[in-house]
Amino acid sequence: MNSSLKMARDIDGKAMAAIVLDEAAAQVRELAAQGIHPALAVVLVGDDPASHVYVRNKILRAGEVGIRSVERRLPAECSEAQLLAVIAELNADPSVHGILVQLPVPAHINEQAVIHAIDPRKDVDGFHRENVGGLVQGHEVLAPCTPSGCMRLLEQTCGDLSGKHAVVIGRSNIVGKPMATLLLQAHCSVSIVHSRSVDAPALCRLADIVVAAVGKPRMIDASWLKPGAVVIDVGINRIDTPQGPRLVGDVDYDSARLVAGAITPVPGGVGPMTIAYLLKNTVEAARR
Ligand code: NAD
Repeated sequence: MNSSLKMARDIDGKAMAAIVLDEAAAQVRELAAQGIHPALAVVLVGDDPASHVYVRNKILRAGEVGIRSVERRLPAECSEAQLLAVIAELNADPSVHGILVQLPVPAHINEQAVIHAIDPRKDVDGFHRENVGGLVQGHEVLAPCTPSGCMRLLEQTCGDLSGKHAVVIGRSNIVGKPMATLLLQAHCSVSIVHSRSVDAPALCRLADIVVAAVGKPRMIDASWLKPGAVVIDVGINRIDTPQGPRLVGDVDYDSARLVAGAITPVPGGVGPMTIAYLLKNTVEAARR
């Protein structure tokens, strides 16, 4: 018997992200015809190598869909007031439609003060309390990019999500909570599992849809899953192996795919969707 028949289908985030980027590029062309040229400002504080890589990728992708980027770099020792002054300047600049401050910022700067200094209409990360509140109330707002990308993958994989039981593992402000909100809006029954949950695997086994956003390498294995469940693995964890460092998700992919119906790989699943939705949000901000 061919054992591969039992394997979960891979959900291809790279292919889906290419579709989203094509959509964004088409919208950029439409706006350009009206004399509007979408622009994204990216603010980077300090020398964190991972942040530099993320910012470089965002700027590169923005250029590919025709979005102009404005880059502002500040030294790690800059004051909170200096950073807030840069944000105020970008808020006031009508040629800038989206503002992204690459997180984390250095410890002496209050991250919440920075997030809430951004004009909510330019908050393409969707982290401002005005957008968060609007999302909960079901308004059309700039929603956080990673959960938006996960929703697109789920809609592509499952079609109508209405009535499905979704379990979100993790309750962070940037992934877990907005993810649960979006699933609820799509008429799922939603449970959130977190570090204080009792018997998380048992709760998870009830789910048609599992979204893992914990930050613990391969924590969720086949024993957490109902047969046929659709698994979205948000986790990005760098681990050392005898073959060198590699990236793994929060889900133990090799074991989970023996039980799941469909699963996102890491890398190549959720990651490419996050950046695609950042650019989609930038176009949306310009359109508005
Ligand atoms: P976070 O550390 O802010 O939140 C983790 C959450 O997991 C917390 O709410 C906590 O309650 C929960 N948790 C911790 N231990 C748990 C346990 N044993 N059982 C159940 N829940 C537990 O992390 P985050 O910012 O939400 O990110 C989660 C993961 O997603 C990380 O690996 C991060 O790198 C990754 N991430 C990926 C993308 C992407 O684009 N793919 C974007 C953002 C975050």
